[in-house]
Amino acid sequence: MTFPITPAQQITLPIYGSAELRFPVNNIYCVARNYADHAREMGHDPDREPPFFFMKPANALISEHDTFAYPHHCGDVHHEVEMVVAMGEGGRHIDAASAMRHVYGYAVGLDMTCRDVQTAAKQQGRPWESAKAFAGSAPCSQIMPASICGHPQSDDLALSLNGELRQEGALPQMIWQTAELISTLSKTFQLEAGDLIYTGTPAGVGPVQPGDVLEASLGKIAHLTLHVV
Ligand code: MN
Repeated sequence: MTFPITPAQQITLPIYGSAELRFPVNNIYCVARNYADHAREMGHDPDREPPFFFMKPANALISEHDTFAYPHHCGDVHHEVEMVVAMGEGGRHIDAASAMRHVYGYAVGLDMTCRDVQTAAKQQGRPWESAKAFAGSAPCSQIMPASICGHPQSDDLALSLNGELRQEGALPQMIWQTAELISTLSKTFQLEAGDLIYTGTPAGVGPVQPGDVLEASLGKIAHLTLHVV
């Protein structure tokens, strides 16, 4: 096959325990309001409203040794620490009972959000992409294969800003668990191997500034350090 233009490069993430293996990233799905305490802090009633989703382009990913460049179109960038599910197999209409078999591994990510742009978009009934999907909006750690760590169920999510703990949560607090999220997504979307799912953030979101250092962790499974410039 030949192309008349140079195809964009495959986006990849490093994989724990291997210098050579890379995880090839396809689409990035994100879940909104999946922790009740965060839904409340954003002014919503979290009582099992069905999960809803938005996306980021794969080339919004940044990883371990990258820096987060404060976006020019925004004056209030927030951190949202989230567990990231890395899909090893795709499918449609996957039932929750078999969903976990489709997972390759896990990571910790940050759903970086231009809160001022998002608030304006909500008020005007406009889409969220400028607030959620901008370049660099998807920091993510290396992928930990489920063959090594299993499927995390009770691990803690944490985010500290310049050494101060800002966000803390535990996976059991997720309103919709991983298997339910995969099943629900696959009813609407064609999931593919390489898809990432950002599974939502606990309370404590807040602003970052150039010069800040963010440290995100998912138990002992994944860790990410990010410098804001
Ligand atoms: Mn989020």
